[in-house]
Amino acid sequence: TSATAAERELAEPYLRQVLDTAGLAVEYVRAEGNTLYVRDDDGTEFPVADFAGGYGSVLLGHHHPEITAYARQLLAEHTPIHAQFSRHPYANRLAGELNRIIARELDEDEPYYAIFGNSGAEAVEAAVKHAELDRGMRVAELLGSVDAGLAAARAAVADGSATVHGEAAARLGVALAADGDEAVRLLEAAIRRRNEETVASPPLFLALEGGFHGKLAGSVQLTHNEGYRLPFKSLAAQARFVPHDSPEDLNAVYARERRVLLGLTAENGRITVTEHAFPVFCAFLVEPIQGEGGIRVLSRAFAREIQEFCARIDCPVVVDEIQSGMGRTGALLASSRVGLRGDYYTLAKTLGGGIAKASVMLVREKRYRRDFEIVHSSTFAKDSFSSHIALKVLELLERDGGAAYRRAEERGAALRAKLDALRAEFPDVVADVRGHGLMQGLEFHDQSEASSPELRQIAASGLFGYFLAGHLLRRHRVRTFPTASAVSTLRFEPSIYVTDAELGQLYAGLHDVCTLLRKQAGDELTAA
Ligand code: PMP
Repeated sequence: TSATAAERELAEPYLRQVLDTAGLAVEYVRAEGNTLYVRDDDGTEFPVADFAGGYGSVLLGHHHPEITAYARQLLAEHTPIHAQFSRHPYANRLAGELNRIIARELDEDEPYYAIFGNSGAEAVEAAVKHAELDRGMRVAELLGSVDAGLAAARAAVADGSATVHGEAAARLGVALAADGDEAVRLLEAAIRRRNEETVASPPLFLALEGGFHGKLAGSVQLTHNEGYRLPFKSLAAQARFVPHDSPEDLNAVYARERRVLLGLTAENGRITVTEHAFPVFCAFLVEPIQGEGGIRVLSRAFAREIQEFCARIDCPVVVDEIQSGMGRTGALLASSRVGLRGDYYTLAKTLGGGIAKASVMLVREKRYRRDFEIVHSSTFAKDSFSSHIALKVLELLERDGGAAYRRAEERGAALRAKLDALRAEFPDVVADVRGHGLMQGLEFHDQSEASSPELRQIAASGLFGYFLAGHLLRRHRVRTFPTASAVSTLRFEPSIYVTDAELGQLYAGLHDVCTLLRKQAGDELTAA
């Protein structure tokens, strides 16, 4: 009956139960600035200092007064939210503003074209689709030049200016039963067969170990975490994952996977087989600071290696700034700080100001294929509401000579100082502190060999950081989460309005957690 259906929990009940085991299934009833409000069982509200920051979407705080006021205004003015297939001057202004800021940060003026979407994963998929469209077009051009070579070889044999030798036939595994026109036709048929096979093979992607690029059918194959990726392996093209800081591994993957298209040429009176590098790799995906992979900062040296490697093999670089971008590290693009230049960028999260759902994929002019605009779209993308909100976000970031970026740096440094102090006091508990600006992570040492049975148990559960987060929420009114693919690392991504008092509250909470871990007081840490 409908009554029982209403009572039954049907919106991801299992996830709620899992959160419950770690004491995290609370209901937030209000949010403002850097604070979320929980209502407890007897109806009283209490504030929680938010260090999860909407997983990166509220760099400007919850319900920023100017963003909220602007949203109200847009609705009052009856902004045409759904007017697809018309001129979208607001989206154009947004693309222009993003370009202006990016040109400043990169000190380059090649434009980036913008394709809008609704979520982070969608922007990643748009980048991947565009890269594949571009790859297909490059393959077609390559096949055109191979064809021209084949025709020239045929002509050279026909007019007697070149002959077919055993060497070319052996190279293609063709038994030469004839000579002249017939022989060159046999070579050509073998080449076409091989090339067709090569062209039909799916592309490969390159991505970093620990990388996270979304959970949709295509993007999840670029996300390293096996739990998310492997069940859906057969749905989309595969990535080869390379470790950080290892140019040798890049070269080894390339050596293993590289392919060529074959062709023919008439040289010195002989028909010779030619090789043409085939674009096996569709794109290289990289986060300047890995978010879900444990807040790992890409080194400047490895950024350069990736850039040079991709230039060498003509593989576009997709810089995924969905978590790191939009001012969080003191710049619109965190990658600009390590000298990484993307052929593509993806931005989302704070782009929507904490209230709209918006993402954008940017492609540099050199790689841009305008046909993409005809074949890719979403009902909801590029709408007036989210575009205007995103423009307001950029206005807030850029105001007063970029005061918000400086604030992200300054608040980030204050947060970092607290985490560094904990690491110094508890080297036996804290393994590492990483990040930049308002994207910081604190990694705990593994507790799977702990003397406390509760700690051994939560370490084995795969939810270690979630239990620590539960304790921080219950006892210290601090909201934080581990990163999705590295659950021993707690992530801190507060808004630029995080106060010293809130940083103190976080420090006190983490100090308590570290003390309990040092004492092996697993019972206290997990007590409801
Ligand atoms: N890329 C990165 C770097 C991310 O951090 C995320 C989300 N955590 C995504 C892509 C996917 O974004 P969304 O959840 O909006 O699909």
